[in-house]
Amino acid sequence: MQNKIYDTLIIGAGIVGCSVARYLSKYKGGIAVLERKEDVCCGTSKANSGIVHAGFDAKHGTLMALYNVRGSRMYPKLSEELDFKYENNGSIVLCLSEEDRPKLVSLYENGVRNGVFGLRIVERDELLTLEPHISDEAVCALYAPAGGIVCPFDATFAMAENAAHNGAEFFFDTKVTDIVREDELWKVVTTRGSYLTRTVVNAAGCYSDVFHNMVSSSKIKITPRRGEYFLLDRTAGGYVSHTIFRLPGKMGKGVLVTPTVHGNILVGPTAEDIDDKDDVSTTADGLDKIRLQSALSIKDLPLNKTITSFSGLRSHEAGHEFIIGEPEDAEGFFDCAGIESPGLSAAPAIGEDIATMIADKLNLEEKEDFDPYRTGILDPLTLDEDRLNELIKVRPDYGKIICRCESVTEGQIRDAIRRIPGARSIDGVKRRVRAGMGRCQGGFCSPSVMEIIADELNCDISDVTKKGQGSEIILGENKVL
Ligand SMILES: Cc1cc2nc3c(=O)[nH]c(=O)nc-3n(C[C@H](O)[C@H](O)[C@H](O)COP(=O)(O)OP(=O)(O)OC[C@H]3O[C@@H](n4cnc5c(N)ncnc54)[C@H](O)[C@@H]3O)c2cc1C
Repeated sequence: MQNKIYDTLIIGAGIVGCSVARYLSKYKGGIAVLERKEDVCCGTSKANSGIVHAGFDAKHGTLMALYNVRGSRMYPKLSEELDFKYENNGSIVLCLSEEDRPKLVSLYENGVRNGVFGLRIVERDELLTLEPHISDEAVCALYAPAGGIVCPFDATFAMAENAAHNGAEFFFDTKVTDIVREDELWKVVTTRGSYLTRTVVNAAGCYSDVFHNMVSSSKIKITPRRGEYFLLDRTAGGYVSHTIFRLPGKMGKGVLVTPTVHGNILVGPTAEDIDDKDDVSTTADGLDKIRLQSALSIKDLPLNKTITSFSGLRSHEAGHEFIIGEPEDAEGFFDCAGIESPGLSAAPAIGEDIATMIADKLNLEEKEDFDPYRTGILDPLTLDEDRLNELIKVRPDYGKIICRCESVTEGQIRDAIRRIPGARSIDGVKRRVRAGMGRCQGGFCSPSVMEIIADELNCDISDVTKKGQGSEIILGENKVL
């Protein structure tokens, strides 16, 4: 048992847990984030469309709509404070037949009621000027200039680093196994000992029902709803410039085609309810569906430029609503459960509100020295030649390219590991600085990345993993096995 009594323990270091940590770190008090994986952003927050939804889709009057619109309006300022990329590229919802026009009009009306700025219906001629490769079937579309895109890894790391800078602690490889009420406190039992705390935040993604149901008699059920994707090479970048949806259906927003902030094109996701809360495999069926459905929106999409496929799991709650705040019968336990899409868009607003609820409950005072700023890892490609040469004089490792596809230098990789919280695995490096994110998917750079991790963490190279325990890469010497 840890001696310290925390004010708040947050279960889960996804975008929601890290956002709560960031906003709560404005207040005096002891905060820690407990994460079962080796790093920040290892759950759903690492595998989504990266869209900051404008907020026209979520049903008016729901928490989803409220937090979506508020969260999306927070992103531009947040991206400046925390130095991550946000692009206001706008989104388009295609209507492929005149019979569907009333559905598009209802979507428009729902968006207006939700308070989304600038929404309008555009007819085919204008649509073609916005997106030349649009399908011949498209008759009109809903245009939402407020839609945006972010890199979900960058946004999550930025929140986590800023929270840590302002005093939040992070414990990785720490799986929460039980939560027990002890007098006025909660005892949070983990695979690395127990912690006492005044309040708990349940930001455990697909596992948020498990923790809610441990402490409350009003049970909830989260079903993992898998979404599969194709990621296209940067040479396909520019094929579309807006995020292009089709009219949403019963299972969600459907297959979209969108640019990413790094210049790739992302195509997906599917929507399939599964049982396993950790099954992020891709399937031939799922990928076939993406091929067929994306062709209905965009002509001649260069899917032959696919560099990888992946999937993520939405935390689908039976009532399709966010569950936020204290259950009536579990004082001091704060849910952020059922945070499926638009959870990435909503996360800053959820984080801000949960922090306020906890500060009010515990009478926490605001810190005078809270620092809202964080500087991202320097990308030498953004420097002109003179400044780059100056940098290389003081940091020669910024002159050595390790990842050729994405032009990532040794200096960036070392800095990714030195961050707090820093990269501990090959995937942790990949998500922070994109080494291994390009066309060869780490085929060339992984051995060098492993050497740098081993050097920085002062460990043996055989201890370096792809993504934490159980993903070791070096199992023995050649010929010995
Ligand atoms: C296919 C798909 C597309 C999406 N697209 C978008 C989009 O474009 N825009 C948008 O706004 N939203 C989108 N979303 C939704 C968005 O990604 C999620 O709402 C958001 O990432 C949820 O964040 P989270 O922090 O709640 O969950 P997670 O990121 O899953 O974080 C939960 C964390 O809890 C940890 N955890 C679980 N159990 C334990 C335990 N026992 N002990 C300790 N830690 C534990 C997990 O390891 C994980 O790191 C999409 C989701 C999917 C799946």
